[in-house]
Amino acid sequence: MQQFLPESLRILVQQLGKLPGVGERTAMRYAVSLLRGGPRRFEELGRALHGVATEVSHCPSCGFWADSGHCPLCEDKQRPETRLCVVRDSPDVLALEKFRAHPWRYHILQGLLSPLSGVGPDQIRLASLFERVRLHSVTEVILALDATVEGDATALYLRDQFRAQFPTVKLTRTAMGLPAGASVEYLDASTLENALVHRTEFE
Ligand SMILES: [Zn+2]
Repeated sequence: MQQFLPESLRILVQQLGKLPGVGERTAMRYAVSLLRGGPRRFEELGRALHGVATEVSHCPSCGFWADSGHCPLCEDKQRPETRLCVVRDSPDVLALEKFRAHPWRYHILQGLLSPLSGVGPDQIRLASLFERVRLHSVTEVILALDATVEGDATALYLRDQFRAQFPTVKLTRTAMGLPAGASVEYLDASTLENALVHRTEFE
């Protein structure tokens, strides 16, 4: 159907169709809805897209999304600096923040080790993790990583590094109840909370 469309509209439908879960039909529905909203709707959406593209960066401490400087999670003085929860990516934080009974700060690795894809320790935020542990006398590091080959490889690497560099820091890991292959980001809240409450020391 796209061959009948003006080029700019065709490009918009193609771009919308690249979003997860959006097929060609849904992309077309979104485009029609925007067109019906008139120029103002496009301006608002354009401003929103431009704002995110130019203003959202990463918190220099934990790596979560932030406007500039530190994120609200790191500014929250209620959270002890001595307990860090290590996750793969920012959406994992959103999943873990659904329950607030367990205060900690986060450290986002922005990836996982993957020898097969050539992702080594220097490609993810490991150096800054070790620096934070050193600077803030961290006492517990909780690994809330995906139950995947990459998540396991990262956890094992961290275990070896902590044994060698920080033998007194308690290293814990979400309970093994995480289903194999599960991403933290997509786990339901009760499974995730259960895995965190029953986290075990990682030896
Ligand atoms: Zn932060």
